[in-house]
Amino acid sequence: MSNTISHWVDNAPFDGSSSATAPVTNPASGEVTGQVALATVEDARHVIDAAAAAFPAWRDTSLAKRTQILFTFRELLNTRKGELAEIITSEHGKVVSDALGEVARGQEVVEFACGIPHLLKGGYTENASTKVDVYSIRQPLGPVGIISPFNFPAMVPMWFFPVAIACGNTVVLKPSEKDPTASLWIANLWKDAGLPDGVFNVLQGDKTAVDELLTNPKIKSISFVGSTPIAQYVYATATAAGKRVQALGGAKNHAVVLPDADLDLAADAMVNAGFGSAGERCMAISACVAVGPIADDLVAKIAERTTPLKIGDGTKDSDMGPLVTKAHRDKVASYIDAGETDGAKVVVDGRTISGDGADRDSSGFWLGPTLLDQVTPDMSVYTDEIFGPVLSVLRVETYDHALELINTNPYGNGTAIFTNDGGAARRFQNEVEVGMVGINVPIPVPMAYYSFGGWKASLFGDSHAHGMDGVQFFTRQKAITQRWLDPSHGGINLGFPESQ
Ligand code: NAD
Repeated sequence: MSNTISHWVDNAPFDGSSSATAPVTNPASGEVTGQVALATVEDARHVIDAAAAAFPAWRDTSLAKRTQILFTFRELLNTRKGELAEIITSEHGKVVSDALGEVARGQEVVEFACGIPHLLKGGYTENASTKVDVYSIRQPLGPVGIISPFNFPAMVPMWFFPVAIACGNTVVLKPSEKDPTASLWIANLWKDAGLPDGVFNVLQGDKTAVDELLTNPKIKSISFVGSTPIAQYVYATATAAGKRVQALGGAKNHAVVLPDADLDLAADAMVNAGFGSAGERCMAISACVAVGPIADDLVAKIAERTTPLKIGDGTKDSDMGPLVTKAHRDKVASYIDAGETDGAKVVVDGRTISGDGADRDSSGFWLGPTLLDQVTPDMSVYTDEIFGPVLSVLRVETYDHALELINTNPYGNGTAIFTNDGGAARRFQNEVEVGMVGINVPIPVPMAYYSFGGWKASLFGDSHAHGMDGVQFFTRQKAITQRWLDPSHGGINLGFPESQ
C-alpha cells in the first residue's frame, strides 16, 4: 500500500500545489511504500514564509521557555525512539540496532542544546574606558535551511536543528527524498513537545526545493550534508546569495594498520567500520592500509570475520541490511567488477552473497560485504567514493607511504591508525590532514560537545557541525558599548574616541 509523504508547515501536514512525487521504497523488499511530494518553487516559498513569520516570536521567547521545550523533546525522543528507528530501517535498510544508534547520537546533540543558556552567554568588560562598559551578545540569524542526505535521516538533521532552534532560529528541513518519513515523525514530536507553529518545518523535494532554499533572501544560512559535487554547488550558490554556509561533503576514509598493531582488534574494527550500515556511512572505512609484513595475516583475519556475517532484512536478526536503492546497489557492484578487471584480488565476493537472512526470492537491494586485496591507488575502487560494503586493502612498506596516501587524497573526513606505539600514534595525529582522527578507534565520530567536520573536499566553509561551532554558526555576535553614569562627553570633539 502506498502513502503520500507530505511537507510540514505550522505544525501540520501540507500537501503542496503539485502532484509531482517520487517513489520511496523498502530496500529489503523492493516494494514502493510511499510517494514523497516534490515541492514547486511556490510550495518552497510557502514553507519558507511560515518559518519567517514564526521567527520574531521565537527569537523573543525566553531561554527558560525554549529549554523547557527542548527538555520535553528529549524526553519524548528517548521514550519513543524505537518508532523512529523502525521508520529509518523501513526506508533506508540499515538494521534496527544501527538505526537506534543513529538516533542516540542525534539525541546527544539535543542534550547538548538543552544547555543553551550557558552556551549563549556573552562577555562583559566593566570600565573599558572610564565609566564605559563593553559587552557582547549572540543573537539568532532568522529562518535557516538544513539539507540532509539519505544515509542518516535522523542523526544528520539532528546535528543542526536542536542547536539552531535553541539559539532562537526557525528551521526549514529538506530531507533526502529517498527516506523522508523520519522528518515528519520528528516534526510531530516537536509539536507534541510544545514547539510553536512555524519554528520547525519540513520541505520535501529535489533540486527545485534546494535551489529555492539556497537563493531565497529570507533564508539566512544553509547547513548541507551530502556528496562532494552537490556540497560544492550548494556552497557556491548560497554564499553568492549572501548566506552563511556549512556544506559537508563525501569521504574516502583510510585506516592505517602498523606492524605492531593488535591484528585481531584491527580486523574487528575493519569489519565493523567497513560493513556497518552496508558501508553507507560518511565515516565508514573504505581503504585499509596495511604497513609492512602484516598484510597477509590481516587480510586473512578480516576475511574470516566477514564470511559469516548475516545479510538480511534489518528488522530481523541480521548484521547488515540491503543498500538504499537498486540503482545504488548496481553502481556499487559495478565498482567491484571494475576492481577485479583492474587486477584487485576479490577475497570475499559480495556479488554472490550466501549469508543467512536474505530472502533470495525478494526484490531487495542486496549486496554482501566485499573484501578486495592488492588494490592500487590508480584503481577506481580506490579513487572514488563507493559508499557501499566494499573494503579495499592497499599494501605499503612504510608509515610515510601510508601517510602520503592519506594526505594526497582529495577527501579528509575521517581516518584511523591501529598501533601499540604511542609515539607513532601521536606523530600521525599531528601529521595527518584529516578532520577527525581515531587512534585504535575506527569510526571517530566526535561527541556532541565537540564539533563534527572534515577537511579538504569533505567540507566547504569554515564551520563544523554542532558543539561550539554550531552555536557560533547559528548566531551573530553583537558588541555593545555603554555609558550611563556621568554621561558628560566633554563637549565637541571630532577625533576618534580613545579609552581614558
Ligand atoms: P546527495 O548529495 O545525493 O544528496 C544530498 C542532498 O542534496 C539531498 O537532500 C538531495 O535531495 C540533494 N540533492 C541531490 N542532488 C542535488 C542537486 N543536483 N541539486 C541540489 N540538491 C541536490 O547525497 P546522498 O546520496 O543523499 O548522501 C550520500 C553522500 O553524503 C555521500 O557522499 C556521503 O559521504 C555524504 N555524507 C557526508 C557526511 C559528512 O559528514 N561529511 C555525512 C553523511 C553523508
